[in-house]
Amino acid sequence: MIPMLDLRRQYASLKPEIDAAVLAVLESGHFIDGPNVKAFEEELARYAGARHAVGLNSGTDGLHLALRALGVGPGDDVVTTPFTFIATAEAIAMCGATPVFADVDPQTLILDPDAAAAAVTPRTRAIVPVHLYGLPAPMDRFNEIALARGLAVVEDCAQALGAVAGGRCAGATGTIGALSFFPSKNLGAYGDGGAILTDDPALADRVRRLRAHGAAVKYHHEEVGVNSRLDEIQAAILRCKLPHLDEWIVARQSVAARYRRALADIDGVALPPADPLHTYHQFTIRVPARDAVAAALREQGVQTAVYYPVPLHLQRAYQHLGLREGTFPNAERAAAEVLSLPISPELSDEEIATVARALERACVREPFVSCAS
Ligand SMILES: *Cc1c(COP(=O)(O)O)cnc(C)c1O
Repeated sequence: MIPMLDLRRQYASLKPEIDAAVLAVLESGHFIDGPNVKAFEEELARYAGARHAVGLNSGTDGLHLALRALGVGPGDDVVTTPFTFIATAEAIAMCGATPVFADVDPQTLILDPDAAAAAVTPRTRAIVPVHLYGLPAPMDRFNEIALARGLAVVEDCAQALGAVAGGRCAGATGTIGALSFFPSKNLGAYGDGGAILTDDPALADRVRRLRAHGAAVKYHHEEVGVNSRLDEIQAAILRCKLPHLDEWIVARQSVAARYRRALADIDGVALPPADPLHTYHQFTIRVPARDAVAAALREQGVQTAVYYPVPLHLQRAYQHLGLREGTFPNAERAAAEVLSLPISPELSDEEIATVARALERACVREPFVSCAS
């Protein structure tokens, strides 16, 4: 079976270094708020070209605490995409605010800036674009829309650390950006982890306070916070991996280029946007009869994944918003057609060829209408 992702390969390539870093933390006896977290925050901020990085327990907390730090709360609206992982909307709801969805661009599957602008109400406080699958969102447009209306831009950069957006590092181009170090992400820890990036020292301080139970000084709680720290072991692992992130992204782009060549002639398969800035956290094609194609690939020993089968406005959790099928046709069509193929920096030519052959066979079996238009 060719899996979506085999995390053991990357570990094998860095094993001596990572083992030593983890052991050093175990021997130090310092597991929370230690020197690795501090050093990683500095290294991450430098890498991304942001003034501040704050380590957190997850990307979900990154989004949640970014919004909290901006003062988003009950009665506020936050505009975002319905075609993303649930955490994007969940973070808005966790603040007591209301997610207001706007449709995605039919080509890029990223929040459409015009649709987002049209969804802004007098109660809107922020826009949350998502750099979906590692493809940077059009940050210049979002920043322009936000500036004109006095809104904040919170980037959901869980899938695109290392991408360039609006001439800067994705995650550091809006007001504040949230990163995830979930193991499968472009920069993955060996457990949960996340961070925010921002140039605004007040926002960084507030996220620092919120992650530590609302206290800047221990046991003196200025507001209701949460417990959301990045731990020392994860920070030590991330410090080993961060220097390799750019080479891993180049390797992902090379895998994507080989996939493009191998898949170019398969009828009915629409390839991901050929944007040179794409970092290919996922290599996601679109095919009609998607579930049948996925089943045919599985039969041939190729694992695939569907990110995401149900757009957020049609999830039961957001039923109370009263949005019916047909509200966001681009997101709904994407949810029916997307199929992510195995990708990692370590994927071999042989594996790429096997996936391509299996897809060709799967497609020949299925009656296709082209969705490449
Ligand atoms: C992974 C992910 C998150 C959440 O990150 P966690 O670290 O798992 O909490 C948020 N948004 C998107 C788009 C993601 O892919």
